[in-house]
Amino acid sequence: MRPHELFNGYSERVMQGGTLSPQEAREIIETPHEDVFHLISAANDVRRHFKGDMVDLCVIVNTKSGACTEDCAFCAQSAHHGTDAPVYPLMGKQEILKRARAAEAMGGNKLCFVTSGRGVESEDDLASICDAISAIAEQTSLDRCGSLGSLDHRQLKRLREAGLQSLHHNIETAESFFEHICTTHTYEDRIRTVRAAKELGFYVCCGGIFGMGESPQQRVEMALALRELDIDSVPLNFLNPIRGTRLEHAELLHPLDILKIIALFRFILPEKDIRACGGRERNLRSLQPLMYLAGANCTVIGNYLTTQGRDYKEDLEMIADLGLGVNLGGTLSPGTTSEAHKRTSGIL
Ligand code: SF4
Repeated sequence: MRPHELFNGYSERVMQGGTLSPQEAREIIETPHEDVFHLISAANDVRRHFKGDMVDLCVIVNTKSGACTEDCAFCAQSAHHGTDAPVYPLMGKQEILKRARAAEAMGGNKLCFVTSGRGVESEDDLASICDAISAIAEQTSLDRCGSLGSLDHRQLKRLREAGLQSLHHNIETAESFFEHICTTHTYEDRIRTVRAAKELGFYVCCGGIFGMGESPQQRVEMALALRELDIDSVPLNFLNPIRGTRLEHAELLHPLDILKIIALFRFILPEKDIRACGGRERNLRSLQPLMYLAGANCTVIGNYLTTQGRDYKEDLEMIADLGLGVNLGGTLSPGTTSEAHKRTSGIL
C-alpha cells in the first residue's frame, strides 16, 4: 500500500472512533523521512475532525524556582546539577497576579502555575498557592492549571476547591526508560498523582520530553500508556539541552522526527489536546508551523521555566497565517472546545 493510502486509512479509522494497534503505532514512528508529509497530512485531518481550527495558548509562570531535591536528568532546577537557573521561594500573591494579567494580555487562555520540587513542601505553601489560584479565578478570565509535583488526594482536593481546574504532571518518558532519567522517585510515584487527579475530576495534562535517548519504540510505549490513563491533554516537550544538566550534550532531534512524534500522539489520542511545548523553537526550527499540521492543537507561548521562548507575537502571527484561531478560556472540560469561547487570531 502507498504511504498516503496507509495513513489516510488510519485517519479514517480513528475519525470513526477506531484505534490503532501497537504495531501500527510503531509504523508511524518509523515513517521514512520522505513520507512524513503524507503522515502529517493524515494527522491534520484527525486534528481538524476532533479539534477544529482553534488553538489553545497557555502561559507558564515559574512561581518557585530551583533547589529541587530530585535528579531529573533534563532539569535545570535540580540541586544535583550546576546550572544558572534562578533559585527563589514561592512568589507572593501580588507578583503571581501581575504575571497572570501579563499572560492574559499576551492572548493566553490558560495560566500554568509551576513550582519546583518533589511536591508542595509545607502547609503554608499549599495555603498560599490556593489563595493565589482563587485570586486568579476572581480577577482574570484565565483557566487555571497547576504543575506542583507529586500530590496526594487531600492536597489535590484543597487545590480543586480553591479553583484549580487542570493538573499538570508529566510521566516524562516511557516506563521502561524512566530509571535513566530520574532515580529519586519512580514512574509509579508519578502515575499515582495522575490517577488521583483523574479521580477528583481534574482536566489532566500529562506528557513528557523527547530526545533524552529514548528509542522510537519507547515513544510508542509512552503514547499507549497515556491512552490507557485516559489523560485529557498531552504536553510534548523536545529536549533543549541545558549546560550543567546530565543531558547537556544530548543531540537535538531532527525536525522530521518531531513531526512523527506529534502525529503519533494525534493518532493514538485523537480526541485529546496535544500541546507542542518546550524546545519546539530550537528543535523544529523553520518547520515550526508544521507542528499544527502534524496534529498539535495547543501551544505554550512566552517563556518556559528556565529558558526563553520566542516573542509571543510571532506565534500569534504564525497561527493567523495558518488560518487558525485562538480559544479564549473555558476549554478545560475534558475533550471539549466551547463555541462560546473562541476568537480568531486575526483580531488579537
Ligand atoms: S523536573 Fe521537577 S521534580 Fe524533576 S528536578 Fe526539575 S523541578 Fe525537580
